[in-house]
This record gives sequence, structure tokens and C-alpha cells, in this order.
Amino acid sequence: MRHTERVRRRKVAVLGASGTVGQRFISLLAGHPLFELAALTGSERSVGKRYGDVAHWLLPTDMPEGVADMTVEPTAGTIDAEICFSALPTEAAAEHEAALARAGHHVFTNASTHRMDDDVPLILAEVNPDHASALEYQRRKRGWKGSIVANGNCTAIHLSLALAPLHRDFGIERAVVSTMQALSGASYPGVSSLDALDNVVPFIAGEEEKVVAETNKFLGAWDGKKFSPAGIPMSVHCNRVMVRDGHTETVSLTLRGGPSVDDVARSFRGFRGRPQELKLPSAPARPIVVRGEHDRPQPILDRDTERGMASTVGRIREDPVLGMKFVVLGHNTIRGAAGASILNAELLVAEERI
Ligand code: NAP
Repeated sequence: MRHTERVRRRKVAVLGASGTVGQRFISLLAGHPLFELAALTGSERSVGKRYGDVAHWLLPTDMPEGVADMTVEPTAGTIDAEICFSALPTEAAAEHEAALARAGHHVFTNASTHRMDDDVPLILAEVNPDHASALEYQRRKRGWKGSIVANGNCTAIHLSLALAPLHRDFGIERAVVSTMQALSGASYPGVSSLDALDNVVPFIAGEEEKVVAETNKFLGAWDGKKFSPAGIPMSVHCNRVMVRDGHTETVSLTLRGGPSVDDVARSFRGFRGRPQELKLPSAPARPIVVRGEHDRPQPILDRDTERGMASTVGRIREDPVLGMKFVVLGHNTIRGAAGASILNAELLVAEERI
């Protein structure tokens, strides 16, 4: 029997529901076996209005039944939902998320606001599920009845999924990463068409620092009192490219012991975690999919692998400077945002931490 068959359904809310990530949450929550969508929140512009009238729906699938007629609520402690999936912009997250946790809600956030707080676990369900035990410390320290669990930045999530088995099996000494990030990662309407079309923008404000810090937090340790970052020296270049969805990252790195290409491919292929063990509803069967073709992964072909919940790796080969290199690609609004939060919530429910 799947673990989740024994678990009661919980009411959930989506905060910042009309945005790029908010829409993804709504679509992934449709028919969810554990979570029932009970509330949607928005800014002053939308509060009190019909969701269907304020959301500019951008997904290729229809808005799930009944959602258009839901009334957008303010983001306040009166929300009738145990779990709040947050797709709020940074400033709104700073204003509301801690207050919601204090009022007893369990907030799973995509905003960067609390990611690096010393009592907020940044969880990638296959990589560091043990960091969830920091929630006991968080509740004690802040006196909250609820909690905040953060998701990483979309680029850091796919990078960390790919690096986790390599760090576990060999140890990573250093890494150099260049990204080609999709336009939907910049929200909607995001980058103006005149900046995006026929172009590459070699700068995303704050992104390179976030990728280094968050990846090291994911791959680091929680010792019961504090998080210790993995301490992997990394050089990251972030670029915005003319792709709708799916971030591509090229990675060169030095691994201890100088493993072969086959050893590295085996490490990726064998990687599994708690979500697969517990058969959680949103868990990909394979968190990392390895492609052998010389020209994969590509956004339009590979971003929806495992319903957008996997990272796809390809072009694993020796690097004459650092030792090994490969390409990793993943969906930025599914595994890189809403899907990762939902999987984190499924994990914490299954492990009875919330
Ligand atoms: P977005 O498209 O700009 O959506 C944010 C939504 O929040 C807006 O639609 C707005 O809705 C709502 N909002 C603004 N102020 C609010 C308030 N005070 N209370 C309630 N709702 C408010 O942004 P996004 O791309 O979905 O990103 C959401 C968060 O996820 C950001 O923190 C972002 O950094 C993070 N993130 C994004 C991605 C990605 O790939 N896009 C990936 C990882 C993480 P109204 O229509 O009601 O004004």
C-alpha cells in the first residue's frame, strides 16, 4: 500500500495565485490525493475578484474546474488552509510568510526571502530530507505553531539534484557552471520582448550568488543546531535566453578520485531518495534521467521528463581542465518551483513532521 493512502487530505492555499508559479501550483494540485485547493490569495489589485477575471492563464492545459469561480483572498492569517504554497514576490513574502507561520500555517515558499535564514530548512526532497528536523528548532526559536520550509532558486534546484549523487559518491572539489535560463523564470511579463528576442542577456540580478549559497546549503549538513554549508568552491555565470520554459546548465567539475565517465553516469542513474522510497504522489520514478545522445538534453524535448519533476543530464565527458563535465536541464516552474514545494509538503506529511 502506498504510504499516502493512510493520510488525511489537507486544505491548502496558493499565495500569489495569479502569477507564473501560482498557476503551476493550481494546475499541479488539481486532483491531488493529499491536498485540496481551498484558497487563493493575491495583491490588492485582485482581492475580492473572481480568479478567472484576474489571472492571465499562461499554461497550455485548461484552468482546473471550479478555480475560475474562486474569489481571491487577502494574504492574511485568516486563510482557511493548513498548508500555504507561496508563490509570492520577495517583498510580499517578507510581509506575510512569518505571520502565517506564527498563526499556525505551514508555509512552503518559493520566494528567496527566508531561504538562507539559519532556522529555515531549504529542502530538496531527494537530497536533504533530514534538514526537515530543523523545523523543531525553528518552532522553538520563533515560538511559531506553524513553520516555513523553503525551496531553492530554480537553477540551484536542478544543479543540486545533479551534484548530490556525485558529492555523495565521490566528493566535489570545485565546479564551474554556466546557465541558459528560460524567460518564464523572470515571471510575467518578465523580460521585455525587445530585450529577449534575438538575444542573450548575460546578467540576472543576484542569481549567481543565490545559486552558490543555496547549492551549498542543499548539499551541506544540519547538525541539530545549525546548517553547515558543503563549502564547494563554485564559479557561476547566469544568462537569460530566448526559451519559454526549462533552464539548461553546463557544469565542469573536479571529483575526488578521478572517476570515469561510466562511474559518473552510474552515479546519476542510481540516484534515488525518500520520495521514491515512500512512493510520494509527485515523486519522479527517476529524479535524474541520463540521455546518451550527443545533442541532448534540450528544453523543448526534455523539460517535461517525468512530468517536469526530473533533471535530465547528458553529454557526460572528460574535461581537460577540471576533470569531468556534463549538461543538466530541468523545468523551472515545475521541479524548479511549484512541483518541488508540493513534493516537500508530501514528504513532510508522510513523515508526520507537519
Ligand atoms: P509573478 O509571476 O510575478 O507572480 C507573483 C504574483 O504574486 C503576482 O501574480 C501577484 O498577483 C501576486 N502578488 C503580488 N503582491 C502580492 C501580495 N502582497 N499578496 C499576495 N499576492 C501578491 O512571479 P512568479 O514568477 O510566479 O514567482 C513567484 C515567486 O517564486 C517569486 O518569489 C520568485 O522569485 C519565485 N520563483 C520563481 C520561479 C520561476 O521560474 N518563475 C522559480 C523559482 C522561484 P496579483 O495578480 O494578485 O497582483
